[in-house]
Amino acid sequence: MALERIFNFAAGPAMLPVPAIEEAQRDLLALPGVGMSVLEISHRSKTFEAIIGECEASVRKLANVPENYHVLFLPGGATLQFSMVPMNLLPAGSWADYVVTGSWSEKAVKEAKKVGAVNIAFTDKAENYVRVPRADELKLTPGAAYVHLSTNETIHGVEFHKLPDLGSAVVVADTSSHMFSRPIDATKYGVIYAGAQKNLGPAGITLVIIRDDLVKKAAENKAYATLPVMLQYGTHVPEKSLYNTPPVFAIYMTGLAMKWLLGLGGLGAIDKINERKANKLYAEIDRSGFYRGHAAKDSRSRMNVTFRLPNEDLEAKFAKEAKAAGMDGLKGHRSVGGLRASIYNAFPESGVDALVGFMKEFEKKNG
Ligand code: PMP
Repeated sequence: MALERIFNFAAGPAMLPVPAIEEAQRDLLALPGVGMSVLEISHRSKTFEAIIGECEASVRKLANVPENYHVLFLPGGATLQFSMVPMNLLPAGSWADYVVTGSWSEKAVKEAKKVGAVNIAFTDKAENYVRVPRADELKLTPGAAYVHLSTNETIHGVEFHKLPDLGSAVVVADTSSHMFSRPIDATKYGVIYAGAQKNLGPAGITLVIIRDDLVKKAAENKAYATLPVMLQYGTHVPEKSLYNTPPVFAIYMTGLAMKWLLGLGGLGAIDKINERKANKLYAEIDRSGFYRGHAAKDSRSRMNVTFRLPNEDLEAKFAKEAKAAGMDGLKGHRSVGGLRASIYNAFPESGVDALVGFMKEFEKKNG
C-alpha cells in the first residue's frame, strides 16, 4: 500500500526531499556493493569515509566554500555552537557584539555571557522581534572578537535578506533555519553554523564552516587547553569530524539531501523556488486584512512564515482544521502565538498552494 505523505509545516525536524528518502529506503537493508546497512557501518570504514567526503564535497560545491575554510559536522545542535563559539573565540579581556533579532539570538547571548563580555549591538525585543536592524541602528564596537547574528529567526519569522555591513568584524552566523535556501558568500563569514534538521537533513548533526585562522587563533587562548576536547574546534579539524563516533545515518541522509539540491541546480535554483513559494503565501496573508503577518515586510522570513488571525479561538480552529485537511505543524510557537508555516527547501510548492487554498476557504467561512 502506498503511504500518504501529508504536508508537514513543522519548524524542524522538517520535510526531507522525497528522492533522498526513497534512496535511503531502497538501500536501507544493504548499501549497494557493501552488504550492510548504513545504520550498522563503521565510521572508520572506507565506505563511510566516502559518504562523509561526498557530503563535505557537496557542501563545498553548493556554497563555493574556499580552501581556507573547514567544513565540519558536529554534535550538540546549533545550541552547542552558542557555547562553542564564545568558548573558542572569546578570550578573557575581550568582548563580542551580538545582534538580537529573536529568541535564538537571545539564547546565543545567554550562553556567551557565561564565557565573557557581550555587547548588545541591536535588539528589538521591546517590539517582540519583528525586524532586522537598519544600518544606522547597529551599535558595533570596533575591536570586538566577533559579531554574532542569527540570520533567520525561526520562531519570529524574521530574516536578514542581505548580510548588513559589519565592517571588518569577524562575522559568526547562526544560519540554522535558512542555510542553503539562497546563495551564501562564505568568504564574508568567519563561522557559519546550522543545525541540520531544517534545511539540510535529519536531526543529529550541525554543519560548521569555519575559517582556518580562527581555529588557530582559538588554540592560542589561555583557556583553550582547559576546554573539554569535544568543545575545541581544533579537535575536529584534523579528525575531519570523526574524533568520536558521529551519527553516521544523519551524515548519510544530509549527503543525499545535498545531492538532491545540487541536482536541482544548486542555490540559485532553490532561491527562485523559495522566493515564489514565500511570495504566494505572503500575498494571501496581505490580501484582505483577515490574516496579519507578524514580521515587518522587509524582514519577513521566506522559510518561517508567521501570521495571526483575528483572535486566538480562530487560530486554534485554523490549526485543527488544517491538520484534518492534511496540513500539520502550523501552530505557532507559544512566544509569538498565531500560526507559523515553515516552508524549507524540501517543502513542496503544492503544499503552499494547498495552504493558500485552505486560507481562502477558512476566511470565507469565518471572516
Ligand atoms: N538557532 C536557530 C535559528 C534555530 O531555529 C534552532 C532550532 N530551532 C537552534 C538555533 C537550536 O538548534 P538545535 O535544536 O539544533 O540545537
